[in-house]
Amino acid sequence: MKKRKIAIIIIVLFLLASGLVIFLTVPKMSPEDRRRQEIIEAFEEKIYESPQAYVPDEETAHGILQAQGRLLRKESPENEVRQMELELENAYGMDAVNLRDMQPETAKDLKKACEYMYSTYPVLQGYLTNIELRDEVTESVAAVALFECDTYITNLSPELYPIVIKKQVLLRAKDFENPRRLENSVTINVRDGYWTEGTDVSAVLVHELGHALVSCILSHKYGLDNAVLIDEQLSDAYAKYNEQQLADHQEFVKEVCNTAFDQYRQQHGEISYEDFCGQISGYAKGEQEDGGISYDETVAEAISHVYVHGKDSADAAKLILEQIKKSIEEYQ
Ligand SMILES: [Zn+2]
Repeated sequence: MKKRKIAIIIIVLFLLASGLVIFLTVPKMSPEDRRRQEIIEAFEEKIYESPQAYVPDEETAHGILQAQGRLLRKESPENEVRQMELELENAYGMDAVNLRDMQPETAKDLKKACEYMYSTYPVLQGYLTNIELRDEVTESVAAVALFECDTYITNLSPELYPIVIKKQVLLRAKDFENPRRLENSVTINVRDGYWTEGTDVSAVLVHELGHALVSCILSHKYGLDNAVLIDEQLSDAYAKYNEQQLADHQEFVKEVCNTAFDQYRQQHGEISYEDFCGQISGYAKGEQEDGGISYDETVAEAISHVYVHGKDSADAAKLILEQIKKSIEEYQ
């Protein structure tokens, strides 16, 4: 009887001691971390058209962008393209890369474009949140790729902020999943003088990352840096940044192009602005469907031109890039 009692006491003591060990070794989650995790988990199972949520901080915002961006990604660790999605996310601090049925040869072009842009302009690191294949990128039938920075999550409460923004490169699936179709459209655009001689798929992607670079410089200029959570404090900065992205208010890129144009005329004599841009490419003239001029397109074309031609680039493109590099130094 006594032996049995002792045995029971020993067992109880053992259980208490092991319970204590577990209690001490299991990391305890703070209420904030638990709340953060709950918000992110709510986004892990369903794609939302226009999500609404109260997002308390930057970390939760990135958690949601990751959960949503990876939701439609195909799971297959052996596939070369699946591996490349993870590599791009890790190397450049992106939340999610989703390349759907992109062929390995096109994914390699994308990787090449990223390698060039992120090593030439390290300021881009961590700026872009997503790269995604979509059925359509805009209403325009001509657009195969697009950079956009847009509101992604709006606030649940009647107050406007905080909101979460998403900075992404969108690629049209029917082109980027079909290498022959994509090459064909590149060939036609080069033949028509729309893009510079020597443009390939990677140069088209460099052009889009060029738009992301301009947007990144603006976000530094207005003090947003790489933020994706816009709260009340950042709201004024975000309004200024957003305004600059609109075609009619492109003061920053307009000044970049005009300064480069003035420098060119000082060095080489009089030339029309159209001929100056024409050295870069047909598209660099920035003429838009609505009859306006997009300086943003001129800058993106200059970046792509220098990627294609290197030291043999047209002076117009080189001078525009000098201005871009100057502004990166200024705002960092
Ligand atoms: Zn463009």
